[in-house]
Amino acid sequence: MFMVIELRRFCEESGTAEAVFSPSQLPRVLDSVADTTGRVSMQVRGSLDARDRPTLELRLEGELRVLCQRCLRPMPVHVAVRQTLAFGEPSVDERETETFDLDAVEVLPLMAHLDLAELVEEEVLLSLPMLPRHQQCDLPAPADSGKVLPFAALGALTGALAVASQSERNQDN
Ligand SMILES: [Zn+2]
Repeated sequence: MFMVIELRRFCEESGTAEAVFSPSQLPRVLDSVADTTGRVSMQVRGSLDARDRPTLELRLEGELRVLCQRCLRPMPVHVAVRQTLAFGEPSVDERETETFDLDAVEVLPLMAHLDLAELVEEEVLLSLPMLPRHQQCDLPAPADSGKVLPFAALGALTGALAVASQSERNQDN
């Protein structure tokens, strides 16, 4: 899905845009979610800032489902992004601002055209948790304990396998 704006003109005319995206319309987000359920709504407002730079106020709100990294089942994550983006040269202050300051204006290179869908994709990806986990859940149960039996037949190797699976378990903790 493409939503290309002429950046300078959109901002000069105080343009606004609204859209609702499903994960299947955001290919890179689709790679990071559990399924195609969920929606992210976008609101964008353009303006020129004090330094005459095209500026976008971006608001994203929605819910997606990602895979819990412990039990590997889907879990909902809330998406809430409020970001001001300015396009052009960063000011001295902005250059010195720590990048992890969430209130900071994000300064991007000036461009003639901007794909809002791509911008939404970028910001959604940044907002997703790195290691999503339910507050409470269990590791998946072993699929079928019967499957252990063929390994037992390997005799001498069994001890080594037991040690290996034990250390795997320790890594998980
Ligand atoms: Zn879980």
